[in-house]
Amino acid sequence: MDLYEHQARELFEEHGILVPRAEVTDSPKEAREIARRLGGRVVVKAQVKTGGRGKAGGVKLAADPAAAEITARQILGMDIKGHTVGKVMLAQPVDIETEFYVSYVLDREAGGFLAIASAEGGMEIEEVAATRPQAVARIPIDPAEGVTSAKAGEIAKAAGLPPQTVDVLVRLWEVLVREDALLVEVNPLVRTGQGQILALDGKVTLDDNARFRQTRWGTDGVEHDDALEAAAAAKGLNYVKLDGEVGIIGNGAGLVMSTLDVVAGCGARPANFLDIGGGASARIMADGLSVILSDPAVKSVFVNVFGGITACDAVAEGIVQALDSVQLTKPLVVRLDGNNAARGRAVLDDRAHPLVQQATTMDGAALRAARLATTA
Ligand code: GDP
Ligand code: MN
Repeated sequence: MDLYEHQARELFEEHGILVPRAEVTDSPKEAREIARRLGGRVVVKAQVKTGGRGKAGGVKLAADPAAAEITARQILGMDIKGHTVGKVMLAQPVDIETEFYVSYVLDREAGGFLAIASAEGGMEIEEVAATRPQAVARIPIDPAEGVTSAKAGEIAKAAGLPPQTVDVLVRLWEVLVREDALLVEVNPLVRTGQGQILALDGKVTLDDNARFRQTRWGTDGVEHDDALEAAAAAKGLNYVKLDGEVGIIGNGAGLVMSTLDVVAGCGARPANFLDIGGGASARIMADGLSVILSDPAVKSVFVNVFGGITACDAVAEGIVQALDSVQLTKPLVVRLDGNNAARGRAVLDDRAHPLVQQATTMDGAALRAARLATTA
């Protein structure tokens, strides 16, 4: 999950990194008040989770509180690369002498982190990186050692940053570790006319796997592009929306992935990925079915279960109970195999729901679900 600039700014401040005084609002009137509190002249900055705000007109200087209100009104509601501006941050302007670029980023391939730094920071950093890569230093960080003062000195030297940045580099690493971040980026990190080092912009990406212990920002920032994915996430389901017409439910990520392949091999397209895991309870089955059936693109549903610790008869009982709470509107093809498969099939046969049919093999079931979807 990405944080907004103002949230990153808050973290930097807590970790002892200098940042401009700033406040956030969604109201132009309040922007005027804030500007007054901050001394009149302010920088008005769109709060959206994308870069390049400056170039898009989302970062503007306002000379006084009245101008701050007008500028805030302009920027609020603006579209920046598909992100609508809901809030602006008003910050005390800083007298910039030099702009630097600094980031720590997870390097999955190397199994470590990478410090990327340049003495030529600012809005043209992509251009600098593309045309003069030698102006951007890339230093691997051993995650077990982290960024000590010595390491920070090495990064600053390689990038041509002034010695005063060493302390900031160490603190930014502390932000990454304490906040469970995968990325911490400051662009620009600036030196002021008075020789102070300040973080003027910040991007922090938190590791979603650590959300259980990083509850502070809530789940507001966890984007679900899709209403179905949001509904599934709310029910705790491991669901991914795809663009086909065969709804898929299976137990175990590997089985579900191969189910997607087999359905595709039968000439239909899967509508989703849904792994109900080991405990195929009636509630999970009902939740999964209701999410899948509410997808208007779905024409048939394929439940593919290989019984293990949770035996097939328990899964079948789950399906039967789910049929009591969820109204089946599309044909359901069930393939039960593995532990207690025969008993599971008998349970479904007894229920004799007109829209439920069974197949004994995965290929046979996939073919049937695919035909039902493409001929429906
Ligand atoms: P981005 O374009 O989304 O990366 O937004 P930034 O927050 O980095 O702002 C873009 C540019 O605006 C920066 O590179 C600075 O040059 C400029 N800027 C931002 N804040 C200030 C400020 O307080 N004073 C001055 N003089 N310039 C600023
Ligand atoms: Mn920036």
